[in-house]
Amino acid sequence: MAAMTAMGDLVETWAGRLWLGLFAMLVVLIAAPAQARALDVERDLCHAVSGTALGDDALSGLRFSCSGAPARYQQGSLWLRAPLDGAAPRRDLALMVHNSRFDRLAVGFSYADGATRWQRVRSGDFASHWRAGGQILFEAPGRSVPLTAVTMRFDGLSGYQFVQARIVSKDEAGMQSAGMAAAVGAALTLLLVSCIYSLSLAVAVRRQYLAWQAAWAATMLFWGTLWSQAHLIFVPATAGAVTAQAGTFLACLAIAVATASAVTAVERGLVPKGLRTTTLLVGAGVGLAGVPLALIRGGGLAALADLLGLLVIADLVMVALYLGWAWRRGSIEARDFLGAWGLPMAVLAFIHVVDIEAGFWGGGSKLVVLVAATWQALWLAAAATRRLAHLRIERDHARDAEAQAQRLARRDPLTGLPNRRGFVDSVTPLLDRARADNLPAALLLVDIDRFKSINDIYGHEAGDAVLCGIGRRIERWEGPMCTVARLGGEEFGLLTIGMEGIILGRFAESIRRGIAACDHSEVVGERLVTASVGVAEVRPACDFKQLYRLADEALYDAKRGGRNRVAVQRHHDGADRAPGREIAVSK
Ligand code: GH3
Ligand code: MG
Ligand code: MG
Repeated sequence: MAAMTAMGDLVETWAGRLWLGLFAMLVVLIAAPAQARALDVERDLCHAVSGTALGDDALSGLRFSCSGAPARYQQGSLWLRAPLDGAAPRRDLALMVHNSRFDRLAVGFSYADGATRWQRVRSGDFASHWRAGGQILFEAPGRSVPLTAVTMRFDGLSGYQFVQARIVSKDEAGMQSAGMAAAVGAALTLLLVSCIYSLSLAVAVRRQYLAWQAAWAATMLFWGTLWSQAHLIFVPATAGAVTAQAGTFLACLAIAVATASAVTAVERGLVPKGLRTTTLLVGAGVGLAGVPLALIRGGGLAALADLLGLLVIADLVMVALYLGWAWRRGSIEARDFLGAWGLPMAVLAFIHVVDIEAGFWGGGSKLVVLVAATWQALWLAAAATRRLAHLRIERDHARDAEAQAQRLARRDPLTGLPNRRGFVDSVTPLLDRARADNLPAALLLVDIDRFKSINDIYGHEAGDAVLCGIGRRIERWEGPMCTVARLGGEEFGLLTIGMEGIILGRFAESIRRGIAACDHSEVVGERLVTASVGVAEVRPACDFKQLYRLADEALYDAKRGGRNRVAVQRHHDGADRAPGREIAVSK
């Protein structure tokens, strides 16, 4: 948790630099000298169309056309032939073809002596040809004769526009596959971690958008797994068209879920209802469009894919508008989402402008999208953590402030002693326990004698100083057996548990003497300041209200008896003015 918080801060402070860094990485990777040669169907390849019944060895008898676009091949076989000119390496060649929708693919390597060696995969069986990163690898058999051409024969291909193939050296193919496996593995692991984290957060803080976020990370995780073909380790029979179709559906679903996540992150009412509904509808539209797109195998796929592209752009614009609106209205969640969506949006725009399909070890735009999605997932997780950390700090501050207020409400500001409320709070449980244990309890009320005249003669401030002096003296009796307080005005209270009879009487007397012995000469000169003490002694203990009333009566007795003295009321059966009552006034 702490690490995620630290990351949250890092994101905030270093966001700009990270962006720059990521773009620099993109540029470096794209600009890196590529030895691979990407094959463009209309530019580099000659094509021929035949029925599927024809054997692969019919290649030599086919008439290839090297211009224009192939047509009417979906139901039959499309043959694509790349003559190898001097620029391409002649030996140790490999052909890497991206997984696409086809029934069968045969790759033939033709040699200068007229021989052609074939390798074949079919939908549901890529054998050992599949590689992480969505590619199928065909290595030219090593022969002493130079290669003259490479031919791909697709049966039941959905659209030649989706064919991506590259000629690379065998060494390079190995390195690229390993690099791709590492990159895809890292991205998928991070997506998995982010998915679990978002889900835990969603459960912990019960926020809907975090659940959507987790769903989005899970969808991207599935999409990334299918696209990269990592799942073929476990289910090799899904190789080919099924994977490509499921991938299309998941890509659309991911956009729909991300839209729902962004929309639900913003508090209702911040953004006009119309904008909210439209954004959600466009997102749902992209998700629904994934269903027919995933099912289609025929020629309409390319046109529909273009339409989907427009819908996706509309969705991005709507989400940006929605979040921008909410941000201007002060939504922190919207700001975080814009930060998270910023990079993927920039990447989407970038891959529309610059053709990078052959870049990134052949991972092309899909790998970039996967990395951007990982970035988005981590950013959102970090942002959620940072916000939670802020909330926790605010909650701690509020708790501290409340505790401080509670403490102040229970203290008398002049003497620093507990006030009546604090006193009642702390003695109530003591009285309850004393009653349960049948222990004696006593309340000693200490009231300064003729205090009004001190105020009248020496002033209010002198009166305060006297109160403080007596307060300090009273505080010294505080201990495990005795709880003290200023109950109001010039009246102090001491509650004792377990003391009774002569011992209690002596204690009360020592309090009277102690107060009378206080030195107030600095404020009242030679005047003696004394106090009367009213003591209520009960067994078993009663509640505070009753005890106070008895002590007040005793205090009244002490005042009436001439002041500067102690009066005790004893109640040993708990009944008010019952036969057990006993009054003693002493000086
Ligand atoms: P008695 O011996 O009967 O108790 O007489 P007394 O003058 O002490 O009692 P009385 O209740 O008539 O007066 C209490 C005075 O205490 C009145 C009030 O102005 C004063 N007083 C109450 N609180 C404070 C305080 O916080 N500071 C000061 N300086 N005076 C206070
Ligand atoms: Mg009084
Ligand atoms: Mg008084």
